[in-house]
Amino acid sequence: MYLVDTHTHIFSEEFDTDREAIIKNAIDHGVRQFFMPNIDTSSIDRLNNLAGHYPGICFPMMGLHPTSVNAHYLKELEIIYKEFDHQKYVAVGEIGIDLYWDKTFLKEQIAAFETQLQWSIEKNLPVDIHTREAFPQVLESLHKIGVDKLRGIFHSFGGTREELEACLQCPHFLLGINGVVTYKKAEFREYLAHAPLTRIVLETDAPYLTPVPFRGKRNEPAHLIYTAQKLAEIYGVPIETIAEQTTENARKLFMPD
Ligand SMILES: [Zn+2]
Repeated sequence: MYLVDTHTHIFSEEFDTDREAIIKNAIDHGVRQFFMPNIDTSSIDRLNNLAGHYPGICFPMMGLHPTSVNAHYLKELEIIYKEFDHQKYVAVGEIGIDLYWDKTFLKEQIAAFETQLQWSIEKNLPVDIHTREAFPQVLESLHKIGVDKLRGIFHSFGGTREELEACLQCPHFLLGINGVVTYKKAEFREYLAHAPLTRIVLETDAPYLTPVPFRGKRNEPAHLIYTAQKLAEIYGVPIETIAEQTTENARKLFMPD
């Protein structure tokens, strides 16, 4: 089986003591590629170091995370934009709007998000979108910048039935499904199968959002298998079908040639 973790922060310090073992264990479990969204300027070196050690296995994205948007965001964006000239990045991410933690910089978050959506069009790269309690704002920005020209992932999808439909109406967007789908309170399990499998990718968001049966512990890419298993139940197909289709979806998005 060949699985792809489309959203993982294995470059973060939570993995400093055992990163190599974690990657080896994931590969042993069939998780063969790792797509890594950046956070802000302080994470760039860690991200690129890891990508440099694992060419063809660990792929870096570049962007400014919404919870890192503050009064200095223009300076952050300037540094991050220059990164695209230094090396190859497979996507603009992780970008978006987050009103769960803090609404202080809403205006700045929207501006940073829309600037980075423009970059993705200019660089012809997909986007990896983080949205938390901000779905209407995210959708508004996508339509304002031009949703037909954009492609990417709604990372950590867990929205309402209406939000699912709105995501599917963005023609070149996929839903990133992670460990949350294994939680009993995840209502979206009831209607998720309305999304065709061609619109689904798997992710862990490690070290966060650990699936059952490891909930409460640090998440790692090897746990992707539990999310794949839950999707197999929801869609009523063998887990191999989930693996094949989601891997193909990820490959087409990140490596379109
Ligand atoms: Zn993330």
